[in-house]
Amino acid sequence: MQDDPSSTVTSSVESHREHKPQRNLAQKLVQEILHKIDNKEWSPGDKLPKEADIMQTHGVSRTVVREALQRLQASGHVETKHGIGTFILQSKGQGPMDLSFDYVNDAVEILELRIGLEVEIAGLAALRRSDEQLVEIRKALDALRAIDRNGHVSDAGLADFNFHLLIAKSAGNHYFVDIMKHMENSLVPRKRIDVAHVNHEHEEVYAAIERGDSYAARAAMRLHLTNSRERFLKLARK
Ligand SMILES: [Zn+2]
Repeated sequence: MQDDPSSTVTSSVESHREHKPQRNLAQKLVQEILHKIDNKEWSPGDKLPKEADIMQTHGVSRTVVREALQRLQASGHVETKHGIGTFILQSKGQGPMDLSFDYVNDAVEILELRIGLEVEIAGLAALRRSDEQLVEIRKALDALRAIDRNGHVSDAGLADFNFHLLIAKSAGNHYFVDIMKHMENSLVPRKRIDVAHVNHEHEEVYAAIERGDSYAARAAMRLHLTNSRERFLKLARK
């Protein structure tokens, strides 16, 4: 059903709101499975556990498992042979074809929301952060740079989230932190994005927060998230 991208386009309009939590769960499961493939826990040719086992291990419903597997099949990561099981396929590299419409659409919407939210967060963090909080933000940024040099790309998404979350914590308003944590599962993985480029933007955000320049912090965060959105759209268009 989901194999034809055009059917996803039409159905996503009306199903957009009511199925959002389920879609996020499916997306989270997709990322967990991709993580295992990235880490070579599962290799091409391996058979995935049975539907019921995945449901139990990940604490999700059958619908969520099926949706996740459909997405992975559409993106060419797995192949389901009816009556036999689902198998990991040889990676086709980092092609844009594994970005489904739903996924790109979600990622861009989340980035728009983050622009609204995190521009304000950065401005307040520049005014309110403590010296201890600044040290924590610096550490998170250093961890991200270390991943850029020699780490595993799939860890970069989490390290990036941590950097942004620490800035939210420094804004001195716990509602910002609550919303950021709520969005964690939807945040864009850094997988195919040039981390070095992104870290240059992160440094600009950090420098402005360090010197307490609220205006510059807002501008730097806006630039970072707007560029992230553009990078993502460009990858999806390729
Ligand atoms: Zn970032």
